[in-house]
Amino acid sequence: MILVTGGAGFIGSNFVLDWLAQNNEPVINLDKLTYAGNLNNLLAVQNDPRHLFVKGDINDGALLAQLLAQHKPRAIVHFAAESHVDRSIHGPAEFISTNINGTFSLLEAVRAHWQALPEAERAAFRFLHVSTDEVYGTLGPDDAPFTETTPYAPNSPYSATKAASDHLVRSYHHTYGLPTLTTNCSNNYGSYHFPEKLIPLIIANARAGKSLPIYGDGQQVRDWLYVSDHCTAIRRVLESGRTGETYNIGGWNEKANLDVVHTLCDILDELQPKATGGSYREQISYVADRPGHDRRYAIDARKIERELGWKPAETFDTGIRKTVQWYLDNDAWVRDVQSGAYLTWLEKNYTAR
Ligand code: NAD
Repeated sequence: MILVTGGAGFIGSNFVLDWLAQNNEPVINLDKLTYAGNLNNLLAVQNDPRHLFVKGDINDGALLAQLLAQHKPRAIVHFAAESHVDRSIHGPAEFISTNINGTFSLLEAVRAHWQALPEAERAAFRFLHVSTDEVYGTLGPDDAPFTETTPYAPNSPYSATKAASDHLVRSYHHTYGLPTLTTNCSNNYGSYHFPEKLIPLIIANARAGKSLPIYGDGQQVRDWLYVSDHCTAIRRVLESGRTGETYNIGGWNEKANLDVVHTLCDILDELQPKATGGSYREQISYVADRPGHDRRYAIDARKIERELGWKPAETFDTGIRKTVQWYLDNDAWVRDVQSGAYLTWLEKNYTAR
């Protein structure tokens, strides 16, 4: 049994689906179901006895203690976070509460549980903290990509709170000996991605005939990784990573935002041509840049490749095509998110166990 936090969000739900497809080991999925948590993502495992969904907050120490005592998971995979940079600019308080205080409360509950385990179980236990490359700050065009030893220099409230949580995790390993692992991954894309983020937003707006907003000059560079490759990497780190270590995860796919948008328009032009003719590119509109917008992120993923033999299975070209196709095939999911209908889904449909 493993315990996943934030398993109703974008990456967490992909991870839970992937985990249950690859293993027979059950998952407790603890998620607060904020606006970003969506049980529609988990329809495929709704009645799977190996999936136990618990609606709850990682700040709730009593709930955490009870879940750990009752289910005795051998590992924690910690995804739960406030994750949207723009929201962190307009309202950082939730980011402090979940990303910093929530990670602290989770670490405290896990430490107490772990310290009481018999020696052999203590040694085998793992706490895997899922983090971002944004903690490293921004790169110039000619700078080498981030490695695991790049100094932290977060620039947004989101990345600052993730950096703080990374440091807390690190300290619990060095101070208490908790067997931790931290992963710092680049931008993910793929199925179940909430349409406030660049790729699903562009696909949704293009199809709705709305404008495709580009921040500033659109030349901000990100490294992109298909979400199922991230899930595979996390499984690999969980099974074989060295405790106390951090692993950078990336796809070697540096792309300027404008190029990503052009690619999406071109794939849509091919798969779903506009009824009115012309290209989706005509809907592009430039908007004021995000304050403090980092110019470039790039990940050096050689450590995880060398030590754990992980490599992404998808290139950007194959992954982005699959992603567009997924959104074309899953209109109902997008509509539910846009209308807010998914927010009442738990009450209507989910059988609590
Ligand atoms: P998401 O916003 O889609 O999902 C976050 C999930 O956490 C949601 O289901 C939400 O309900 C839940 N949650 C929020 N606050 C909670 C709380 N207090 N208690 C319990 N659950 C809570 O995020 P995501 O994009 O899936 O990212 C998951 C993790 O991966 C985050 O830690 C993020 O920092 C990290 N990450 C994301 C990316 C990316 O490109 N999306 C890249 C690298 C790392």
